[in-house]
Amino acid sequence: METDYRKMWEDLGINMEKHDQLLAVLPFVYRNVYLSQKNRPKAMEYYDFVVSGVHGIRVKELLDAKDAGKKVVAYFCLYVPEELVIASNAVLVGLCGGSNFTDQEAEEVLPRNICPLIKASYGFKAARICPYFQAADICVGETTCDGKKKMYELLSELCPTYTVEVPQKPDTEQARELFYREMMALKSKLEEITGHKITVQDLKKSIGIVNAKRAVLDQLISTRKAVPPPISGKDSLLVFQIAFYDDPQRFTQKTKELVEELQERIKNKVGVVDESAPRIMVSGCPMAIPNWKLHHIVESSGAVIVVEESCVGTRYTSMGQIDNSANTVEDLIRAISDAYLNIHCSCFTPNIGRVEDVVRLAKEFKVDGVIHYSLQTCHGYNIEAAKMEKSLKKINVPMLKIETDYSNEDVGQITTRVEAFLEMIRK
Ligand code: SF4
Ligand code: SF4
Repeated sequence: METDYRKMWEDLGINMEKHDQLLAVLPFVYRNVYLSQKNRPKAMEYYDFVVSGVHGIRVKELLDAKDAGKKVVAYFCLYVPEELVIASNAVLVGLCGGSNFTDQEAEEVLPRNICPLIKASYGFKAARICPYFQAADICVGETTCDGKKKMYELLSELCPTYTVEVPQKPDTEQARELFYREMMALKSKLEEITGHKITVQDLKKSIGIVNAKRAVLDQLISTRKAVPPPISGKDSLLVFQIAFYDDPQRFTQKTKELVEELQERIKNKVGVVDESAPRIMVSGCPMAIPNWKLHHIVESSGAVIVVEESCVGTRYTSMGQIDNSANTVEDLIRAISDAYLNIHCSCFTPNIGRVEDVVRLAKEFKVDGVIHYSLQTCHGYNIEAAKMEKSLKKINVPMLKIETDYSNEDVGQITTRVEAFLEMIRK
C-alpha cells in the first residue's frame, strides 16, 4: 500500500517521515488486537480490508470525488448531521483522533492536561499525518465541550473551520429553535462551499441513505442481545468506527451482509464466547480509531462486551429513523434538527436520558456489569458517572469506573481492575 500511495500522500503535503512511523506500527497492533481473535464472522473481512488500506483506498476515493467537482467535509462529532452534508453534494468524512501519536505537536500549542481526543484531533492536522484531514476542504466543529470548541478556534488557523452551536439544555423550546437555526446556517455554509443549492429532493434522498445506514447498525446492535453474542465487542466497535468515514451506501450493504451472517450464527447458536462469559456494557466517551484499548483488555480477560452506550454504539443511531415525508427544505431540516437533539451527550444538562438509556440497555442486553469509560479531563462524562452508578445500583448492576488516556502506561493497572471486577461478577 505504501508504495502505491506515496505520491498521493506527498501531493497532500503529508509529513512522510512521521507518517511512515505511524503506518509501521498499525499492522502490528491490528494483528495483535483483531486478527488474533478466534471464530470471527467471515463478513469482518471487509472491515479488515478497509483498515489495511486506511490511508490509501478511501483517500483516493475522496480525491477522485474532488476531481469530479465535489467538496470534502471533515467532522468529529455526531451533532454534525450526515444528511445535510450528503444533500449538499459533498463527501463527509469523520476524522479519528484516537491515538497519542501526535501529542508532541499538539502540546506545542494546547495544554498538556486536556482530553486526549481533543489533543489528537488537533495534533493530526498540526503534524500533517492524516491524509483525510489534508484532503478536507473544511472541518465542521461543534460547541459540545469547552475544550473542543476552543480547540476549533486554533484549528481554524490550520484549515478552514466552521463551528455549529449545540444548545446545552435540549429539552427546551429555545434549544429546539436555536439548533434548527444552526442547521439552517450550516445548510447555507455548505451551499456556499459546494456551490450546490440544497433541494427537497436532495434532502429526501440523503435522509433515506442515512436512515438505511442507521437501520442496519441498529440490527447489528440487536444481534448482540443473543446469548452467546455472535460477534465480539471489538469487532462491533470497529464497524462503528468505520461507519464514520466509509462511503455510506457501500457501508450499509456490507453491514447488511454482516448482520445476515450474525443472524445465521444466532440460529445455529454460534457465539464468539462461551455462554457463561460475563456480559459487559461499556458506557461513556467515544472511542475513535485506533482506540481499542479497553475493549482489548476486557475481552482478553474472558468477558465479552455486548453493548456500547457511546458515540461508537447506541448513541450513533439514537436519532432514529428521520421522517422525510415533508415537502419543504425548512420542514425537512426541522425533522433533522429535532432528531439530532435526541443524542444523549454529556454536554447537555440535565442529561437524564443517558442514565435512562444505560439502565434500559443493561436490562435489554442482560449485562452482568457496566464499565464507565471516561477520557482524562472529560468533565462531562466523568461527573455523570456518579449518577450512572447510583441508578445501576438500584437494578443491582455493578459498575466499574475507568478514567484513562491513549497511552499504554496504565494497561497493567486497568487489566488488574477489570480482572477484579470480573471476578466479583463471577462470584
Ligand atoms: S460524546 Fe458528545 S461531544 Fe463527543 S462525539 Fe459524542 S456527541 Fe459529540
Ligand atoms: S471526550 Fe469529553 S472532553 Fe473529550 S472531546 Fe469528547 S466531550 Fe470533550
